[in-house]
Amino acid sequence: MSLKLKAPIGIYGGTFDPVHYGHLRPNLELCEIFALDHVRFIPAFQPPHRDEPQTSAEQRCEMVAQAIQVEPRFVLDDREIKRGGPSYTVETLKSLRQDYPDNPLCLLMGMDAFSGIDRWYHWQELLNYAHIIVSQRPETDFHASEQWPTAIQTLYQEHKRARQTISDSLCGTIRLEAVTQLSISATDIRNRLKNKQSIRFLMPEPVINLIKYYNLYT
Ligand code: ATP
Repeated sequence: MSLKLKAPIGIYGGTFDPVHYGHLRPNLELCEIFALDHVRFIPAFQPPHRDEPQTSAEQRCEMVAQAIQVEPRFVLDDREIKRGGPSYTVETLKSLRQDYPDNPLCLLMGMDAFSGIDRWYHWQELLNYAHIIVSQRPETDFHASEQWPTAIQTLYQEHKRARQTISDSLCGTIRLEAVTQLSISATDIRNRLKNKQSIRFLMPEPVINLIKYYNLYT
């Protein structure tokens, strides 16, 4: 008997320090390509593989909330902040699987994140809970899979499947998808603010207003 699954849900983790259009537009396109029910934006409390964020978890949440308010398919999920401690994605996926037992879960990420996934905590378990959809990022070569670490090349070869497997199964597929390329990064935005340059048109206006209000990244 075939299992009737509900619509897939996108899971999008990040530091969002601050959130920008490079986080927003690619996910909207993935939402449409895979008919995702919605995308859950999950700010990391304590990102395990990078420096501490420059702003508080609450401020990063507030910026995400402002950024996504116009798009009903985007939802803020603060479970990593409530959980505290290092924000391990595998733990987040376990709790999402409990909340959504019948929806395929799709972990959405840029190529830069995927090419280092073999350093994530318990990374071999991720595909037991979710699919992984990798979007192209301008500064990383989409087709340079031979430059990935061997473990990631193997993972990709074993799990790459046709698009429709995303809605037909709960987890276990890896897809690479080309989306509109926006060469925007939070690092560049923070540097511009430090140098008193404009950040207009790199992120939604309400996020810029919050940055000004809290006087962030100066
Ligand atoms: P930083 O510059 O501080 O490292 P960032 O802009 O890369 O930040 P993160 O919050 O660290 O943003 O990234 C979260 C996710 O967003 C990652 O999966 C990353 O690949 C993806 N991402 C970030 N910027 C872009 C972009 N311009 N286009 C596509 N994906 C992006």
